[in-house]
Formats: sequence, C-alpha cells, structure tokens
Amino acid sequence: MVLLRFAPSPTGPLHLGGLRMALYNYLYARKLGGKWILRVEDTDTTRSVPGSVEGIQKALSWAGLDYDFGPARDGPHGPYFQSERRDLYRSYANKLVDNGQAYRCFCSADELADVKARLARSGSNNTYDKKCLHLSDEEVARKVKAGEKYVVRINDGIVPTRPPTHDIVYGYVRDAHLSLATDPVLLKSDQFPTYHLASVVDDHEMGITHVLRGEEWLPSLPLHLDLYTHLNLTPPQFAHIPILLNPDKTKMSKRHGDVQVVDYMRRGWEPHAILNWLALAGWGAKHEPEQPAPSETSSSSSRSPSPHRLEDAPDSTHLMTLSEMISDFDLPALTHRSSILDVTKLEYINKHHLMRTWSNPEGLDELAKRVHGLVKDVFKASPYTTVDNIKNAITLLEGRLTNIHDIPIHAPYLFVEPDWTSVEAQSMIRDISVEKRMDIIDAFITVIQANGWLTFEAASHESIMGTLHQEREKLGVQLKVFMRVLRHALTGMKDGPAIIDIVRALGHERTITRLQAVRD
Ligand code: GLU
Repeated sequence: MVLLRFAPSPTGPLHLGGLRMALYNYLYARKLGGKWILRVEDTDTTRSVPGSVEGIQKALSWAGLDYDFGPARDGPHGPYFQSERRDLYRSYANKLVDNGQAYRCFCSADELADVKARLARSGSNNTYDKKCLHLSDEEVARKVKAGEKYVVRINDGIVPTRPPTHDIVYGYVRDAHLSLATDPVLLKSDQFPTYHLASVVDDHEMGITHVLRGEEWLPSLPLHLDLYTHLNLTPPQFAHIPILLNPDKTKMSKRHGDVQVVDYMRRGWEPHAILNWLALAGWGAKHEPEQPAPSETSSSSSRSPSPHRLEDAPDSTHLMTLSEMISDFDLPALTHRSSILDVTKLEYINKHHLMRTWSNPEGLDELAKRVHGLVKDVFKASPYTTVDNIKNAITLLEGRLTNIHDIPIHAPYLFVEPDWTSVEAQSMIRDISVEKRMDIIDAFITVIQANGWLTFEAASHESIMGTLHQEREKLGVQLKVFMRVLRHALTGMKDGPAIIDIVRALGHERTITRLQAVRD
C-alpha cells in the first residue's frame, strides 16, 4: 500500500503552494487506494507560529482533503508532531556517530563565523573546516561530560556507495552536495533535529513510500539518500514539485496578490475550483522521456527547469471534479517546468464549477445557504435576503457569476431599490425625455397586467418580446431604447440579465411597485 505524507512547518497560514502539495499527496494516495499523513514539522521552535496547525487543518478540511492520520486522527505512525519524536532522532544521530559517519562538533557560533570568513578569503566554497572531526574520543567524552553544547554533523567525506540520485519529476540529478563539503548539521545544539535528519527518520519510521515535496528540497536529496545508505535503510521514491509562479514568472508572494488559502476561503472561491486550478499548475504537460541512468561513479548534469506557461499545455483549462482528478492523476504526468498560477484561469474554472453546482437543486440550495450570511450583511435592512430569494438571484445570474460572493455586485436590485440617481443610472436615460420614459413604463405595466401575472410568468420569452415589439412600435421608439428605460427603472444598471428574467425574479408586486415608484 502506498503511504504519503504532507509535512508542513507550522510557520503561518497555509499557502497555495502548500495546498497544492497536500492535493497531490491526497490524489496519489486515493488513486492507489493508499493513505496519507499530515505530519507537523515543528522542530524549528524559533519559526513556529501559534495557531498555524489549526489553520492548516481548517484549510484542508475546507478543500475536502481529509488526511488519514495526523493531528486529531491517531494512527499507527504517531506521534505526528516532530517535536514529540525527539528521542527517536537522537537515537539515529547517536547511531551515525557510533558508526563514524557523523561526529559531535563543539564549535561556537563565533568560531564558525571566523572559520567561514577565513575559508571565503581563501576562495573556498566550504563553510566549515571539519575541526571537530579530528577531536579524540577522550576529548569528546570530556567535553560532553563538562556539559559543553554540541551539534552532530554528518561527515560528508565518507561517500557511501549507492544508486544514482533519482527523482520522479526531475530524473537523474547531480550529487552537487559533495563539492560543498560543509558537513551539514543533523542535530542542533538544542538537541532538536534539522530537517535532513528528521525527514529521513520519519519517512522511514512511518513507512512512507513516496515523498512529494517542494523543489527547494531537491538539492538536499543526495544528502538524504546518503543518510539512508549510512543507516542501511531503503529510501522511498521522491517527486519534487516546482514552485508556483505569478504570470510574470516572479515567485508568488503577498505583494503580487493573495497567496494564503484563507484569503481564497474568505473571498468565496469554490474549493473544488481552487483544487482544479492548483492541479493544473504543475501537472498535465507532456512528460519527457526518461534519461538513461548515469554510471554510479560519474555525475550527470541535472535537467534544468525551463519556465512554461500553462496555457501552452493542451488541457490547460481542463475542468475536473475531485474524483476526475483522482483518476487522472499520476506522478509521471507531473512537470518539472515552473508552474504558473493565473487568476484569470481561476475565474474561468470557478465560473464553470459554480454552473455545475447550481445545475442540481441540492447544489443550488447549498450555494444559497453558503452566501446567505454575506448577502444579509451587505443588505442589512432588506427584508428580501431570504435563502429563496438568493436562489432566485443565483438562477437569474447563471453564467454571469465568476464568484458566488459577487451576487450583491451583480444583482443588488433583487434586495434593495435601485439608486436611480447614480451616475450609471443617470447616464442610461440622459437622452430620453421624461414623457417617453413614462409612456414606455405604462406600456410595460399594461403588458404585464393584460392577462394577469400568472399568464405573464408562464409566457415564453418570444411571445412577450413579440408583444413588447408591438408596444414600442405604437410608441415609435427603438427596441433598445424601450428596453433601456425598463432596465433603468428595474435595476438602475447598464448591464444584466434579460429584462423578462429580472421581472420574474422580482415577482409581480415588486415589479409593479418599482415601476410605479419611477413613474411618480
Ligand atoms: N517542512 C517542510 C516544508 O514545509 C516539508 C518538506 C517535506 O515535505 O519534506 O517545507
């Protein structure tokens, strides 16, 4: 059975990139009938932000991505907070020290800064001179006994023999870490592990089969594979996912717009539209043929990522439900090209997800209930902010709404009287005389009332339009003028759905009252 994990650090609200990572883990686990874990990587106490875990849980649950094991969902692999697994990391670090693959380093921060500066002056890229590697066992024992603080460093001078570094998305990658010779820290002086040690230990201990994580960890992959080899463990398979970019190919950041999931939750986007949008960012472009494996001794050049607009992909705006995403998802279909997130694409996707939802009665009901609070809030004094009236609004606006929260912007006239004095409303009737407007309104009231409201309501668009044509002919005005006067009277807005549909959504009484109000 496949077992995956989403492993955020609780350093703040969940970003879109994190949600995409959770989605890919979820999709692959569900596709193969496996499970996925939410693991909280809270070993950097200086960066942890209170409330982050709850925020991440809320965002996942909003998106419908239910993890199988993790905080509040106990399972066989717990605990799921790394801060509660510190003994485990220490025992692995000790094992590496005992085997001579790692060593204790007692250098202070000042000493390290001096060494780094000296090495830089001599033109070296190294950041550490391995001084403590040469301490005698007695010296180390004495320092430990004296309570001197230390870190545990891996000795990257010991190069284990192992298969070449391979990633599902990037193919074979170069073991660049060997040329850096920095002897990375595994256990910090507060005895918390670094990411390198904690992720290797946990992925092994939890039985993870596939690690899907951000591209920023790709350079660490060779080091992690060395650790697996030193510890005599079988590594999982790795798939590194390119970071998300703005359409101008800059890194996504708050400066460029919303990057936190909570912003999208608040703004009213459909959770499945967001998932669809994120799914397409990084998945769907054709997969390039696998490169041949390099020999174990030679180092291969890595495949360099090249920016690639999603629009170039054949299915760049492919609409998918969550179950379609599950069945279509596959790791080899992930792209190593930069993934661009374009809000205009989200608008398109969201609009279509909305249309799918409201085309069934339960969906319509759910949407109306979801937006009820917001509409009530916007039109506080209105008696028309009922769920039924909101359903009317949604039906009326079918195909026009990009986001369900836009109802108050698109159809305020269903909840409150139009503002006929607004610049927009005034501009609609500037060139039409008051007499003509009143004649048109009277003619329309007569059309509605001629055969009774029920007949008007049941009549087809064509037959009503036929009658309106006759009326406007009698008055000698163009149809567009006729309709503009009615639109002005009923909505005060230039654009909107067909007048007949607006009238039906308003109902008999409100329509007549409104028309009378303009007349008076
Ligand atoms: N805690 C790491 C991060 O948030 C997780 C990387 C991983 O998935 O292994 O970037």
